[in-house]
Amino acid sequence: MKGLPHEARSLVLHLTPDTAQYSRYFEEARNFIEECQHRFPVIKAVLKESSLFQKKYLVVYVDDDWFNEVAGDLAAFVMPDLHFLNCQSPAAALVPVSKMRSRQKDFLSILEHEFVHLNQWIKGFNPGADFRSLNPSEDFIRYLNAEFQAYFIQYTFNPSAFRSLENGAEILRDTCAIKALNQATIKLARAVSTDNADLDVEKTFSSLQAKLKKTLGKMGVSSSLKEELAKNFPIYFMKALVEVCDGNVLS
Ligand SMILES: [Zn+2]
Repeated sequence: MKGLPHEARSLVLHLTPDTAQYSRYFEEARNFIEECQHRFPVIKAVLKESSLFQKKYLVVYVDDDWFNEVAGDLAAFVMPDLHFLNCQSPAAALVPVSKMRSRQKDFLSILEHEFVHLNQWIKGFNPGADFRSLNPSEDFIRYLNAEFQAYFIQYTFNPSAFRSLENGAEILRDTCAIKALNQATIKLARAVSTDNADLDVEKTFSSLQAKLKKTLGKMGVSSSLKEELAKNFPIYFMKALVEVCDGNVLS
């Protein structure tokens, strides 16, 4: 596991908001809790401590049926704001209320994953991707990096959530990259199929494979896997497109 905990610890420090950023966030979260507690689908909103970042983050427990409709079988997800409730809100992690008292290690590791995304929002680094920018391949890479960071921290500090950890640093990086790439590819496929008919697929793809290879290299992914993922990316994309069009993936 050489290098891993040290690198992940540096990443945690890098992602921790500074005092001014955090106090602004904390204030907005407290105002939201006062204003929007119990406004459907919110059952309870709290500031919950992250054991990794040693700060509290806005966790909003919502109605289970509402959550399932929006997020399918996810355990939690992050929204940049909850303005649909007509409330001012900072970024928040949404969790089905049935998980409110869960102390299960895997679930807590998912929460820490979401706290990584909250920090990305708080620090002004948008971890989402809507592919509406001038260069959608930049969106793709930004989203890929954001997910990689979240998985890397989640699994380094929660080895029980990632049983292959003892197999070495490379396997962990490879796994995190594959999971992040899978999510980013599905997101791009969804944008192409429904959300964004204007997306210039040809232009996006022409620069994407080279950028992908470079990004995977920076993540420390093994070189054979890096080559394979970049080369086969168009195939993964087509498969994701079929899955999305068939309605097999919700998120
Ligand atoms: Zn994530």
